[in-house]
Amino acid sequence: VTTIDVTLQGIDKAPIIRHRRSTRLRIVIVGGSDAGVAAALRARELDAEAEVELILADDFPNFSVCGIPFWLSGETPDWRGLAHRTLEDLSAAGLKLRPNTLVKGLDPARGEVTLSEGSQEPSIGYDRLVIATGAVPKRPQLPGFELPDVHVLRTMGDAFSLHRALDAGVGSVLIVGGGYIGVEMADALRRRGLEVVLVERGEQVLSTIDSELGATVADELAAHGVRCLTGTGVVAIERDDGYLKALLDPGGEIVAELALLVVGVQPQTSLARGIGAELGESGALKVDAQMRTGVAGVWAAGDATETYHQLLQRSLYIPLGSTAHKQGRIAGENAAGGHAEFAGTLGTQVVKVFDLAIAATGLREANALAEGFTPLTVQSVIEDHKAYYPGAHPLHIRIVGDRRTGQLLGGQIVGHISGQVAKRIDTLATAIYHRMRVEELSSLDLSYTPPLSAPWDPIQTAAQVWERARSTNCGSRAAGVEGR
Ligand SMILES: Cc1cc2nc3c(=O)[nH]c(=O)nc-3n(C[C@H](O)[C@H](O)[C@H](O)COP(=O)(O)OP(=O)(O)OC[C@H]3O[C@@H](n4cnc5c(N)ncnc54)[C@H](O)[C@@H]3O)c2cc1C
Repeated sequence: VTTIDVTLQGIDKAPIIRHRRSTRLRIVIVGGSDAGVAAALRARELDAEAEVELILADDFPNFSVCGIPFWLSGETPDWRGLAHRTLEDLSAAGLKLRPNTLVKGLDPARGEVTLSEGSQEPSIGYDRLVIATGAVPKRPQLPGFELPDVHVLRTMGDAFSLHRALDAGVGSVLIVGGGYIGVEMADALRRRGLEVVLVERGEQVLSTIDSELGATVADELAAHGVRCLTGTGVVAIERDDGYLKALLDPGGEIVAELALLVVGVQPQTSLARGIGAELGESGALKVDAQMRTGVAGVWAAGDATETYHQLLQRSLYIPLGSTAHKQGRIAGENAAGGHAEFAGTLGTQVVKVFDLAIAATGLREANALAEGFTPLTVQSVIEDHKAYYPGAHPLHIRIVGDRRTGQLLGGQIVGHISGQVAKRIDTLATAIYHRMRVEELSSLDLSYTPPLSAPWDPIQTAAQVWERARSTNCGSRAAGVEGR
């Protein structure tokens, strides 16, 4: 059946004429990773008749990018295990996949996407479009940063290329960047027995946590043989007798066989910009709560877009897989005719580094102050379960609350990987979402058994320490092991 669908929703409000082969809604999604697949699954869930097609540049739809370090470390033995869903699962969910296909352009007036040369068809039509093109790793324009032994890590292609190089017998690696991927990779490469030097321009690794906790992470890296140079930049990389030589600022050099650049990502926005979609201040796509781009019939989600921050009440660029899934689901629902709204995030994240888990949510003191709050940060050190049961470790918990109103604004936790750090930061994130006051944490009915917690969960004890500090008007932190 060929139908002609005339709507009045073009960019310039001019009528759009869409040619459809059938009366079924046709949703095309550019991007087959976290955001794109979440959008596709939700759209099909809500409209089982819809034709939902995913176009992706590579051959690895729905692979867990977040899992790559664990395949490279050897902990996940087979890369195929990184697939969130197999091709069969995706097909069974009614999705059509067009892998190894690059979208070159979009034409919202005609409802068409143009495909790369060599594709079976030069273009395909859509009724609704979701842009989920993600991000690409930053590769600073510095001498030698484009050398073949200087790797980046984002796609399965990057992972295969790094894996091949490591298997070829590399013995030493320079990691440039001490964000969560840099420290995860330091862990992964030490597990393989490699010599690892990590260079970070900032004063500490993991800029998402306060310096009071950064030292614990630095100690963990050092204890596992990672040499960390903080306050240091790599300004050039040269080839030198079969090795790479990295020149450092403020001076010195590092020699390694391979370098891994993990210095952040850049949103891929060119397709969306080409059709007039706006960028936010961060350089990522601006979207509204329904993940609409402002171009009629076009939604966007994931690392290509900005993320609304619940406490700051504005959008920032916080590219995370957890967010990409949620935004994708909203975009998919709305592309299928819904009106769902993305509630935003708190930047909640957790990372494992050797035997430590490091997590953060919400605001830190400096951002809270800049937003007009009157923040008080109190740090406590509390056993992660009853000390009489073997294997208790300290949890370093920092609670940020508003001194004036008592509102919980943020939290950071560093503890042993067995210490349920993620559960505890998630409890704080949930409390912040519900605009709870710090003192209300003590009213939560949290679980307890001695091998896992204490009658007062450590975050409740930390909240009580925060309340005491607030009522005694005491400074920024109160330390000490509590909750024994
Ligand atoms: C090593 C690593 C570890 C990570 N660990 C975590 C973690 O522990 N927790 C966490 O929350 N986040 C983590 N992340 C971040 C997370 O992986 C990303 O936030 C997430 O992958 C974003 O998903 P996305 O779908 O928006 O984009 P991407 O994963 O970047 O996918 C983009 C998709 O678009 C396709 N595409 C792009 N342009 C085109 C085009 N022109 N035509 C056709 N297809 C196109 C690509 O082929 C791909 O399918 C990690 C990232 C890395 C690299």
